[in-house]
Amino acid sequence: MELARKALFFVVDDDPVTRLMLCRFLERNGHVTRGFANGALVLDALEREKPDMVLMDAKMPVMDGFEACRQLKTRVDAQHVPVLMITGLNDDESVDRAFEIGATDFITKPIHWAILRNRVHYLLANIEAGHRLSLAARVFDNTGEGIAVTDANGRILSINPAFTRITGYAAHEAVGRNMNLLKSGRHALEFYERLWDELTTGGQWQGEFYNRRKDGSIYPQWSSISAVYAPGGQIENFITVFSDLTALRESEQNLLYVTGHDALTGLPNRHLFHERLTFVLNEASVAGTMVWVLLLDLDRFKVVNETMGHDVGDVLIVEVGRRLDATLGGRGSLSRLGGDEFAVILPKTEDAQSVAQLADAMLQAMRVPFILHDVEFFVGASIGIGVHPLDGEDAKTLMKNVDAALYHAKERGRNNFQFFRNEMNARALARMRMETSLRLALEREEFELFFQPQIHLATGDLAGVEALMRWRRPGHGMVAPGEFIPLAEETGLIIAMGNWALNDACQRAMRWFAAGVTPFRVAVNLSGLQFEQPDFVQRVTEVLAASGLEPQWLELELTESIAMGDAVETLIKLKSLSEVGVRLSIDDFGTGFSSLKYLKRFPIDTLKIDQSFVRNCAKDLEDAVIIRAVIGLAHSLGLTVIAEGVELREQIDFLEVHGCNEVQGYFYGRPMPEEALLEFLRKRG
Ligand code: C2E
Ligand code: CA
Ligand code: CA
Repeated sequence: MELARKALFFVVDDDPVTRLMLCRFLERNGHVTRGFANGALVLDALEREKPDMVLMDAKMPVMDGFEACRQLKTRVDAQHVPVLMITGLNDDESVDRAFEIGATDFITKPIHWAILRNRVHYLLANIEAGHRLSLAARVFDNTGEGIAVTDANGRILSINPAFTRITGYAAHEAVGRNMNLLKSGRHALEFYERLWDELTTGGQWQGEFYNRRKDGSIYPQWSSISAVYAPGGQIENFITVFSDLTALRESEQNLLYVTGHDALTGLPNRHLFHERLTFVLNEASVAGTMVWVLLLDLDRFKVVNETMGHDVGDVLIVEVGRRLDATLGGRGSLSRLGGDEFAVILPKTEDAQSVAQLADAMLQAMRVPFILHDVEFFVGASIGIGVHPLDGEDAKTLMKNVDAALYHAKERGRNNFQFFRNEMNARALARMRMETSLRLALEREEFELFFQPQIHLATGDLAGVEALMRWRRPGHGMVAPGEFIPLAEETGLIIAMGNWALNDACQRAMRWFAAGVTPFRVAVNLSGLQFEQPDFVQRVTEVLAASGLEPQWLELELTESIAMGDAVETLIKLKSLSEVGVRLSIDDFGTGFSSLKYLKRFPIDTLKIDQSFVRNCAKDLEDAVIIRAVIGLAHSLGLTVIAEGVELREQIDFLEVHGCNEVQGYFYGRPMPEEALLEFLRKRG
């Protein structure tokens, strides 16, 4: 007997003699055998090893051959193994049953060895032929990739089990339908046109795109499509081989989750954002500080995505991230929470007003059109704002309220920002209007200086005047500095305004003196920001030179906090100013960090006792003590003392008794416009 090749046989028979004889016979022919006493045992063995053929007795205890064969044929990994049933002689019923359950052939007992040899030989030959023939079919059935064969128009002719596993469509549901059955709607028409173009001209297409499963879920897939040509050269079929990238994407996402960054923009992702927020909130709770959170959502992102496709949407998101980052300029931390949602955490010192300004700047940045594939897009954004601890102690509550604020902003017609708290919205709006009109006021020369006299207590003569700014605001009348100086400080506008005041005061004083008025000191108030300008001293000398005013008539009023600033820089500046010949005074003395150290070191001429002490000096013992101490201190350092806010005779008497040099207040005159001052001077002769 010459068998085609050496094969592995499972021999299943409860009769040990028959089993042994069968095994001997096969081994003598060069094959390998394993013997089993019943069906259950052979099924167990299949878990470990796959035979080329099974010889199976029909009647056995525990599990007979029919049942074992039936079970074997249901197993994907073993169903192709031929089963040769061994039945009783003339047992037609058993033979029928054997074929029914999928047995390949049968042989009767007692065994006729020549017949067995032929059957085995024949079956083995068949197996071999069936192997290099159905290999393709087996690959088709068993590969992990989904495969679809379509006609030239994309109509599905056949699919494999993996296709069903990935897409959810069974063969009877998919065959006969077009491949666009799987279309996700996530790609622009252009994309599919390009795909068909490449396929019909080059016969090949590979790439990643989104498809839709039967259950509606969308998944990313990697596809390789090849055209099959008929002998005539025309396309006959397309074969699509694809794999589901969901798991890959998920593991990528997981990796990003761990690293905490968004792949597209490189910004922190939602996970990291939450981690940071939680951390910052914990810190803030301990320190008792505020933390602001801004949540930004693009207004028309969907439109871009739907009309231009995801690739373009991605480009837009990257650009949005870049613009927001530039707007923030290092303030706070920016994250992309996903989709078109960005968030900013602003810890510590930011007050509602500067947060509103920042939100406005972010909106402005979004308003500049985006140019994508040569098309201009107007996107716009809405922002919700909340603050810890007012709007939420913990991240969850805070974000819920910030989200509500964002929703509110969308409701208000988009392209705006909303605080979670309504009172903040009203204040922000009023302040923003004010800031705009303040800027315009400078351009339109709506500011004006008023002058308040300062009197020598001993002689009653005029010692000087203090220049105080007023805003002649259209529709509002004359506005006092208390209403606009703080905002001007916050926005930095005070620098330009203060420079204007300095120049205007010098110009006017020079005009008075040139017209014959006996010269006196003109005191100008300084903002800290203005004084901090590196070229401040130079500016003062320029202003003096331009006006022609002698430096001795200009006095600069600094607050204690200015004088206490960066010590070395301040000292250098004050010394330079004093060398120029300008007089220096400390305004609102007693309200700040009164430090004797700097008073001794700095070249100061005058101390102005704050009006809060003057108000009750005649009645309140404590205030009286302070004033006496200040006067004593000033005199010991050789400084002049001026008391401001003097309204009553008894205050003047008190100040005079204790040796105060000068006084300023409503008692002598309110701050007045230039003409009124000149009139005041004329009257006093
Ligand atoms: P200040 O430098 O302490 O000015 C004194 C303020 O007290 C002035 O208010 C003045 O009108 C007011 N005052 C004077 N005498 C009396 C009095 O007898 N009783 C009462 N109740 N008040 C009196 P004003 O003009 O509203 O200015 C407020 C503040 O605005 C000033 O306080 C100063 O800090 C700031 N300011 C005014 N002009 C300028 C400026 O040109 N530059 C800068 N940086 N600040 C200015
Ligand atoms: Ca002042
Ligand atoms: Ca003052």
